[in-house]
Amino acid sequence: MAGAPTPHSATPQLLTSLLIDGELVAGQGFVELILNPATGEVLTHIAEASTEQVEQAILAAHRAFTGWSRTTPQQRANLLLGIADAIERNADALATLESLNCGKPLHLARQDDLSATVDVFRFFAGAVRCQTGQLSGEYLPGYTSMVRRDPIGVVASIAPWNYPIMMAAWKIAPALAAGNTLVFKPSEHTPLSILALAPMLAQLLPAGVINIVCGGGEGVGSHLVSHPKVRMVSLTGDIVTGQKILQAAARTLKRTHLELGGKAPVIVCNDADIAAVIEGVRTYGYYNAGQDCTAACRIYAQAGIHDTLVAELGAAVSSLRFASKRDADNEIGPLISTRQRDRVASFVERALSQPHIERITGAAVHSGPGFFYQPTLLAGCKQGDEIVQREVFGPVVTVTRFDELSQAVDWANDSEYGLASSIWTQNLDKAMQVAARLQYGCTWINSHFMLVSEMPHGGLKRSGYGKDLSSDSLQDYSVVRHIMARSSYEL
Ligand code: NAD
Repeated sequence: MAGAPTPHSATPQLLTSLLIDGELVAGQGFVELILNPATGEVLTHIAEASTEQVEQAILAAHRAFTGWSRTTPQQRANLLLGIADAIERNADALATLESLNCGKPLHLARQDDLSATVDVFRFFAGAVRCQTGQLSGEYLPGYTSMVRRDPIGVVASIAPWNYPIMMAAWKIAPALAAGNTLVFKPSEHTPLSILALAPMLAQLLPAGVINIVCGGGEGVGSHLVSHPKVRMVSLTGDIVTGQKILQAAARTLKRTHLELGGKAPVIVCNDADIAAVIEGVRTYGYYNAGQDCTAACRIYAQAGIHDTLVAELGAAVSSLRFASKRDADNEIGPLISTRQRDRVASFVERALSQPHIERITGAAVHSGPGFFYQPTLLAGCKQGDEIVQREVFGPVVTVTRFDELSQAVDWANDSEYGLASSIWTQNLDKAMQVAARLQYGCTWINSHFMLVSEMPHGGLKRSGYGKDLSSDSLQDYSVVRHIMARSSYEL
């Protein structure tokens, strides 16, 4: 690891085995290089699952379903608590792997990703034991109706690379809690943390309840999505991937749970606390190098504070620390790959080729090792610009000026995306009115980005329709059933 900007003193062993039917096995498919994006160096090689191994994993999950689906919520909750404890005990090692594989600062992976991951397993352990529903009763004389919520079957869970272990938790915990069995596929770029967890899962859960297969989307991913024994596909990923999955799922009428991209509007009114806005956008526009579907990336600034905001935010963004050899100094990491970095660079290049867009700070690839891109702020952007309309998924924030608040709300809603949004004003009444009109799965008031396990996370429009976190997610991973009993007994 010589020359690495983020040294990890005690690098844990890099485990590369898949988990199929309770066994840790080497992949027999194509061999994938696993890189450290902070250095560009090869960390290890992982053999993907072969077609036969994907088949074995699905059949194992199918066999395990009968037993697992009949366990009680209490039994499943205890096992989920065991997983949470195992993750907590190994949090330092898992955070190190997450940091190596994503390039993200180790202290942030430990403090944010791992804590949230543990909490998600603990939340679903509790939530599955206290679900609520419709009242049973006699809605037809002589018949008693009751409602059940039952698991769906084998779920194929397909995750992205931006928060590998946390996304795994968002998918695995509610699906298992609800009584489903799983085949989980991490992103081909970031399998290390979930593969490190595989031996613990193998020890804690009955064979076949969770299977982990590595591989790319077109091979392993599309095999999972088209298999007739898979009853539901859960994807967090790109809109185009969601569309492909919907097409494949249509052939066997699978349930789908889609969490897709985002382009979060941030409406800043003249009466906002500007210092709070600057601190919020500096942090949550650029967190995880902007590789976040809720990133505060599309600012609408009211004319009265526009110039001050642009100047002060520009200074704040240019002070973001990254690519330092001392992990504790870094606030953000690199992009996941050269491909992603080049994609971000080409978005910015196209934006700056337009005369009305002004570079305030950044807008260049960082020189030195790793896939870093400078935190970038662009002003003078117009509603129709590509950089305002499309998800960049990198450390790039735009500012668009507005006069009337109704205009900003219309522009915010004029988007294919519908995941997250925020409104910044000291007038709570105004904030509530704006929040009611925004067509987004979440609206923060005088804040951005904060998630809690108890509240639903998910989008509208092309951002998808699955809900992660909260008891709503348990509903997504289960099916409602009506049981009706006729009684002829006269009392
Ligand atoms: P991606 O769509 O390229 O990949 C996501 C996963 O889908 C990977 O595991 C990939 O192998 C798999 N995949 C790709 N093609 C497939 C196919 N044809 N069949 C089956 N599986 C396939 O996305 P990414 O680049 O890893 O992640 C970035 C995207 O994820 C961004 O658009 C981002 O907004 C989105 N995202 C959304 C949320 C959310 O909560 N809404 C959270 C994180 C990321």
